[in-house]
Amino acid sequence: STQPQRVLVTGGAGFIGSALIHHLLRTTAYEVLNVDSLTYAGNPESLEAVKDDPRYRFKQIDITDRAALTSAFAEFQPTGVFHLAAESHVDRSIEGSRAFIDTNVIGTHTLLEITRAYLAEADESVRKPFRLLHISTDEVYGDLSETDPAFTEQNRYDPSSPYSASKAASDHLVRAWARTYGLPVLITNCSNNYGPRQFPEKLIPHMILNAIAGKPLPVYGDGRQIRDWLHVEDHADALLTVFEKGRTGETYNVGGNHEMRNLALVEMLCDLLDQHPQAVANRSGESFRELITFVTDRPGHDRRYAINLSKIHAELGWSPAHTFEEGLRETIDWYLTHTGWWQRILSGEYQLERLGTQPRS
Ligand code: NAD
Repeated sequence: STQPQRVLVTGGAGFIGSALIHHLLRTTAYEVLNVDSLTYAGNPESLEAVKDDPRYRFKQIDITDRAALTSAFAEFQPTGVFHLAAESHVDRSIEGSRAFIDTNVIGTHTLLEITRAYLAEADESVRKPFRLLHISTDEVYGDLSETDPAFTEQNRYDPSSPYSASKAASDHLVRAWARTYGLPVLITNCSNNYGPRQFPEKLIPHMILNAIAGKPLPVYGDGRQIRDWLHVEDHADALLTVFEKGRTGETYNVGGNHEMRNLALVEMLCDLLDQHPQAVANRSGESFRELITFVTDRPGHDRRYAINLSKIHAELGWSPAHTFEEGLRETIDWYLTHTGWWQRILSGEYQLERLGTQPRS
């Protein structure tokens, strides 16, 4: 159709959601409705640059709230959905899993049911282009040994943490709604993302901010775990590619083609910080590597994730554009030049403001 798409993005105030919204507004003519409940991880400041764009709208809605979500659909009349809203931090899921079940499982179920009801009533101009892209993780496949081949879309589901189990459950629901009700869906399973605006509890920002504060850099276990890293802007680009060109009903793995041991990553980060004049100004020792400390491993910690990109590359021509070192350098720069963004999070100022405006759920 020649009408521009109207896409509803859930979780658009989070790390990947905000990168996706910036990418959509920059590279397409889409109209975007961001539906986000603004948990601790949702930060409206991440969308400051687009908040006056006439193609962008925001509604503070919890995806488990049927009534609010139903009216958002009715009002906006989306021609597609990108579903990113989730509880996303593995360590938090180990400490308390309930919110993960509520949002990732019940929330996804709610979204599927509302989409189904919406499409049943929608006219042809909506029903024809419509598709729902469910954004998931490679952690649903469990972990690999050092010699196993990388995950393909055929790997068996074998999640290890409450987080990955809740995401696996949501993937199964999405596939079942496609099979049973014919819902036009796509799924992507992606490896670890890094880049600007990532909440400071995650590995890379946590290490950058600890380093510049002269605090220890805690590496889990022996640091030999292997992760694949993808720049968040490459992920946003992959999501748009799958949404526009992917075959309905299919799953696509997404990754950075960049496997690295956690310890090697932290060492690379230290070396890049050592070369950064602004970071070095506050350094006490010879090198940031002196701050590395080993801490008790996370229970059930997966050893290795690796993504086979053959399908998305062969079918859709997508591959990551950023090289890891350049992406990491840019990310360090972003955190060093956006101190207000993370200082308001670390000081608790930002959550305090939030508590005044939002009922706790
Ligand atoms: P994030 O934690 O930064 O953001 C999640 C967003 O969802 C926040 O804005 C939060 O307010 C919102 N949200 C949470 N519960 C909600 C609810 N009940 N209703 C409405 N909004 C709610 O997460 P992220 O890193 O941006 O991840 C986004 C998605 O991508 C998730 O589904 C995650 O599983 C998936 N994913 C993440 C990675 C990664 O490395 N970060 C990798 C692969 C897949």
